[in-house]
Amino acid sequence: MHPQFKAVNTDRSPVHLHNIRLTPSLTKEGAHDITFTHSSTLSCLSQLDYSYNPTLSSNQEDLTISDILKTNTTYTRVNVKAKIIQQKSQSHNFVRDRTFLTNITYVIADKTTSIDLTVWGEEDITTGGWYFITNVSVRKFQGATFLSSTRDSKFTKITCHESVCQVEHTTSQNLTADIIGTQVNVLYICPLKHPIPDMPLSTYKVHCEKCNTFYISSCITNYTHGTLKIKTPTEIKNVQIENKFIKSIINVPDTANIDTIIDTLLELPPVRMTLHQNNITHIETIKPHTKQLDIPNIIITPSPTESSTTLFPSHEDIEQFMVDFPENTLSPSTSTSATTPTTTTSTIPSSIIQPTKDPQSAIMTSHFKK
Ligand SMILES: [Zn+2]
Repeated sequence: MHPQFKAVNTDRSPVHLHNIRLTPSLTKEGAHDITFTHSSTLSCLSQLDYSYNPTLSSNQEDLTISDILKTNTTYTRVNVKAKIIQQKSQSHNFVRDRTFLTNITYVIADKTTSIDLTVWGEEDITTGGWYFITNVSVRKFQGATFLSSTRDSKFTKITCHESVCQVEHTTSQNLTADIIGTQVNVLYICPLKHPIPDMPLSTYKVHCEKCNTFYISSCITNYTHGTLKIKTPTEIKNVQIENKFIKSIINVPDTANIDTIIDTLLELPPVRMTLHQNNITHIETIKPHTKQLDIPNIIITPSPTESSTTLFPSHEDIEQFMVDFPENTLSPSTSTSATTPTTTTSTIPSSIIQPTKDPQSAIMTSHFKK
């Protein structure tokens, strides 16, 4: 229904909403939200017996970060002017319409204070730059407030000479280690960013159910991510690795199968890496006795028997992680993710897809029983 609502919004068309539900507002105390459910209907009216009040429109406010932290409501959309201080983590997920999106979490700051901002999709953002950021959504999880970009968010680079509050960079750790174990997932993505759950690795064409289209196999890209078990002189630990960093140390053709990716990772010489809270933010291989490039030119050949079906997030996993819609991030199905492996390495997003014990969230869930 989203396009229809967008159209009537653009046209300023009066509408009649039938069979809607009223629930206590998530964004304004004492007010109510209208929930448009599967059984609700929308029809356009030619006129209303009262006139349109433009002052009631929900324009987002320009707020400072400290104002944002003071808001008691979640999912409010705001505009903010801030400097990008540090990139914290990278992750990925399937969003509401099941398209694949990567995300990056940054620390941003203005003169008042700092906050985490998760940016979905590809945005041209550089650390150290000032941006006027519009239409970002205020989120809360376990008492922490953060911002998340929405499909309407815009990032406009600006010149600003204001000083920024003192922000403590979260420490990154540099270390050299042997990769002694690994677990890798591979997602196959159609050109329109839909998942291909049963990717055949040996045929000429691949079917995308969502597009209802057969694609040439070479159009399908893959996204890898997983866990490395690393051994340093002092400890053995698990670290999370995302596609970009796996592909910075080994060559992964789009038709690669998981077994060969694992073999190639396990055969690597020691690696040097930068960790941010167990997420790899930089990695390179160390080849002590050669002058060649750090990236071994290992070509992985596909095996026709490999299947990756089980490595996709379950339907519940996908449903519960949505960029823009509270009913899904807080849906009761979140409880099922307790035992399933998470597909994210980011601190903020992973907190979203995990079961919440936040009493406020539990209350909000009840507004959105399907
Ligand atoms: Zn598709």
